[in-house]
Amino acid sequence: MSTGTEQSKAWFERAKTAIPGGVNSPVRAFNSVGGTPRFMVRGEGPHLWDADGNRYVDLVSSWGPMILGHAHPAVVEAARRAATSGLSFGTPTIGEVELAEEIIGRVGPVERVRLVNSGTEATMSAIRLARGFTGRSKIVKFAGCYHGHVDALLAEAGSGVATLGLPTSPGVTGAQAADTLVLPYNDLDAVRKSFVDNPGEIAAVITEAAAGNMGAVAPADGFNAGLRELAHEHGALLIMDEVMTGFRVSHAGWFGLEGVAGDLYTFGKVMSGGLPAAAFGGRADVMAKLAPGGPVYQAGTLSGNPVAVAAGLATLRAADHAVYAALDANAKRLGNLFHAALSEAGVAHNVQYAGNLVSVFFGETPVRDYAGAQASETWRFPTFFHALLDGGVYAPPSAYEAWFVNAAMDDEAFSVIEAALPAAARAAAGAVQ
Ligand code: PLP
Repeated sequence: MSTGTEQSKAWFERAKTAIPGGVNSPVRAFNSVGGTPRFMVRGEGPHLWDADGNRYVDLVSSWGPMILGHAHPAVVEAARRAATSGLSFGTPTIGEVELAEEIIGRVGPVERVRLVNSGTEATMSAIRLARGFTGRSKIVKFAGCYHGHVDALLAEAGSGVATLGLPTSPGVTGAQAADTLVLPYNDLDAVRKSFVDNPGEIAAVITEAAAGNMGAVAPADGFNAGLRELAHEHGALLIMDEVMTGFRVSHAGWFGLEGVAGDLYTFGKVMSGGLPAAAFGGRADVMAKLAPGGPVYQAGTLSGNPVAVAAGLATLRAADHAVYAALDANAKRLGNLFHAALSEAGVAHNVQYAGNLVSVFFGETPVRDYAGAQASETWRFPTFFHALLDGGVYAPPSAYEAWFVNAAMDDEAFSVIEAALPAAARAAAGAVQ
C-alpha cells in the first residue's frame, strides 16, 4: 500500500535546518512514536495524501477543526469568495458580527464574544480578563489539561507537554508559575481545599469542559457543576475551555451535552474552519471590562480576519444535526473497531469517550485523571501507531491525544481502518516496555 517515505524524509531533513525540530508545533514531530513525520500535500473528505503519494484515512482532522472533512466545498468556496474581496482590512467587518452571533446563538451562557487568532490567545485573554474582573491573581488549573502555550498554564499541561514528558517549560518564570495552582482532574475535594487555603486570592478555575489533551477523559458526574458551585461560593469565575470540544461534541459543544454554564468560554478549532481564528466570550458584565469599553486590554491586528471568519461561519452553518449525528456514529464505530481488534489480540485496553472524542488507553484501569493516563501502558502506543500508519491510517502521533473523527468518513474509510487494526493490535500486544 505504501509508496515509500522518501519525499517526507528528504523534506524533514531540510525542515530541520530551517525550523526547530523541523516542525511548527511539537506533536507533529513524531518524537514519542519515532520515525519520519509525513509531509501532507492534500486533503479531501476523510483523506490526506503525503508528498510520496500515500493516502491516509485521517483521524487527526487537523487536531479538531475539520469536522466536515478536508476541503469541504462550501467552506473552500466561502474562503475563496472572502479572499477575492480582500484579505484583511483592520476595520470592523460584517462577517465578524455574524460569527459572534452564531456562537452566541449556539452556546446559551455566552452573551458577548471577542474574536482572536488561536486557542492560546483565547485562554490567555480569558485569564487576564478574569484577573481584571475579580482583582485577584491566582488561577486553578488541572493536571493533564492543556490550554495552549500560555506561560501561566503550561504547568503539568497535557498534549505535547505530556507527550514530551515535560513538567513545565524553561522560560516560564517562577512568578508566572506561582500564581497557578495545579490540581488533579476530577477531584472536587482538592478544589475545595485550594479555595480554603487561598482565601480571596483565586480569580478563576479553568478547565477543559471535557478533557481531551491527556486522551479523552470525560468529567465525572457532577465535577463541572461542582466547579461552578465552588468558584461562585468563593467569588471566582469558571472558565470553560471549549477550544477542543466546542462545536464538535454537539451543536453547542460540551455545554450542549451537559448544560453547566461557565462564566467565560474559550473556543477555537471548529469555529475557524481550519484557518487561524478563535474566540473567548461569556457573561456580558465580565466581557464589558474589555477594552475599549473597559480597562482590560486585549487586541489583535488580524483578529476577526475576513477569510478565517468566512471559513468558520461556513463550517458552522454546514454543521447541522446530520453532521453531529455522523460525528457521534463515527466515533462509536471507531471505538468499537478498536475494542474488537484489541480484544482479539488479547491487549487489555479502555476505549474512552468524551462526547465524540475517542481515545484508547492500554492497560486494565479506566483513566479519570492525568496520573491515570501516565500510569497506562503508553509504551504500547508507538508500535500500534506505526502499524496503523503503514496500513493507511493517520492517527495522532501521541498516546496522550484524543482521536478526531469527521463527518466525511464513509464505509470505504472505515474498511481501511478495519483492515489495518488487526496488525496494529498484534503490534501493541507484542510491544515491549
Ligand atoms: N485549549 C485546548 C483545550 C486545546 O486543546 C488547545 C489546543 O489544542 C488550546 C487551548 C490551544 O489552542 P491553539 O493550539 O489554537 O493555540
